[in-house]
Amino acid sequence: MDYKKLADLLYPDVDKTIDYYLNKYPKRNLPENAEVMRIAPSPTGYLHTGHAYSAFISRATTKKTNGVFYFRLEDTDQKRLIPNAGTIAYDMLCYYDMKPDEGYTGDNRPQIGNYGDYIQSKRLDIYKCFAKYLVSIGRAFPCFCEKSENKEDILFKRQEQIENSGTIEDKDVCRNLTYEQIEQNIKDKKPFALKLLSCGDINKTFKFHDLIKGNREIRENTKDIVLVKSNGIPPYSLAHVVDDTLMGTTIVVRGEEWFPSLSAHLEIFNAFGFKPPKYAHTPVICKLDENGNKRKLSKRKDPEADVRYFIEQGYPVDSVMEYLLNLLNSDFELWRKNNPSLSYKDFDFKIEKIGSNNPMFDFNKLNDVSKNYISKLNKDQVYEKLTTWANVYDKNFYNIITKDGNYTKSVLNIDRENPKPRKDIAKWSEVKTKFDYMFDLFNPKSKKDYNLEDVDIEKFKEVCLSYIKVYNENDDKQIWFNKIKEMAQNLGYATDNKLYKQNPQNFKGNVSDVCMYIRIALTGKKDSPDLYSICQILKKQDVIDRLKKVEIV
Ligand code: GLU
Repeated sequence: MDYKKLADLLYPDVDKTIDYYLNKYPKRNLPENAEVMRIAPSPTGYLHTGHAYSAFISRATTKKTNGVFYFRLEDTDQKRLIPNAGTIAYDMLCYYDMKPDEGYTGDNRPQIGNYGDYIQSKRLDIYKCFAKYLVSIGRAFPCFCEKSENKEDILFKRQEQIENSGTIEDKDVCRNLTYEQIEQNIKDKKPFALKLLSCGDINKTFKFHDLIKGNREIRENTKDIVLVKSNGIPPYSLAHVVDDTLMGTTIVVRGEEWFPSLSAHLEIFNAFGFKPPKYAHTPVICKLDENGNKRKLSKRKDPEADVRYFIEQGYPVDSVMEYLLNLLNSDFELWRKNNPSLSYKDFDFKIEKIGSNNPMFDFNKLNDVSKNYISKLNKDQVYEKLTTWANVYDKNFYNIITKDGNYTKSVLNIDRENPKPRKDIAKWSEVKTKFDYMFDLFNPKSKKDYNLEDVDIEKFKEVCLSYIKVYNENDDKQIWFNKIKEMAQNLGYATDNKLYKQNPQNFKGNVSDVCMYIRIALTGKKDSPDLYSICQILKKQDVIDRLKKVEIV
């Protein structure tokens, strides 16, 4: 077959050669070891937590090597496009401090860089040219079959192949069409898909080094996969080969789910004679389902699969990024222990250290990481971040906490700015319920508004009402506590813990029980930050009013 003639028959209007494009996008002028990496989401869904994870790897690696991190929008699946998803993905990257250096920056916004267009749907002419080239060298052929096979037919065919030869071999019947048959089809205006003429040998494997998975033995591709669909749009396989080549990508970081199609992708690179980039297939973030089975984080079922969720909940960027690093890198936790006050950005990130097991998403761990991070912020930082969040997600609370900024800061400063800060806030949305009693949001009307579980009501009331008589807002912390002890003793509580442990039956309880009763009266909760600070900030009348109010119980 005269492949050149066939190429002209299929693509008569393509007048450029691939050399034109290869020259148009020359090798980047970067330091020798600089890596060029990309985030290439499809706007068929919102930015997945897994994408953020890949973006982090790419961003950190390119920063470290003085390379380039760029954004390419892979919007070839036009049927499933979600309006604005690309823009949101870009904005999310910026929000999470992973702003790309180059590429797409959102719909109707200017692109940055000389290797564009960075939107795949605007590159169809380029793909066509590369497709024509593959036909001209005999590595691609038109397939005129209509999409008659449904999923069941395909599965059946595959099952048959596995039974017969132990593997799936998808050589297409159209690869045997003669030039004349093709010419007739073209004359008849029959649409065609372009397929790879695979040269793979089902019995052969090759060695491949994945930056995360290490050395792997992979079976050669034998599938005549689709390179260009009958609507003229290439799927990921051809599009990314062309784009990563022209844009100079040196490392592709992508999800584990792409690993099975790697040998097909490599065959396309080889067919062109292009050097493929290095690949890093990231483990997939999983979680346990209701039955205790491990499954992939799913956009449909798990809100945490969409990176916007963490913002809405009020997790600080640093907490989320730090948690992702925890998931990704086995060395990070130890580093954090040894460097408690550094930013996660100071961690010397290495792709090779990424574990190859699929990590489990664990909210408890995320919350611990976040509590630890927030505990180290000073009151001004907490105030700034909290109000920024509330301004968007809880306007009502925003109005409350900004009415008197200094008051709010003094609340946020309880047990903060000291060597052992309290680790109680994991996300900004928690502040309202955790500190409701400091913001006039705790107005008990009956017993159920206090946490009185396992609490003796009579003792509770007796302590609180007695305390009214001894409370003095001018007492310093020591005197304040001495007075509580004295009152406790007078009411029959132990002030010596040892004594109390030896003979609990001789006492109504101990001093910590007394403090707990007062705490419940003032906050409604058994657990709160430093009681003395709370009293000081609340002011005398408020303290007294709350103590009196226990009468309603
Ligand atoms: N568009 C693909 C995705 O969203 C990109 C995979 C890749 O990064 O190569 O999964």
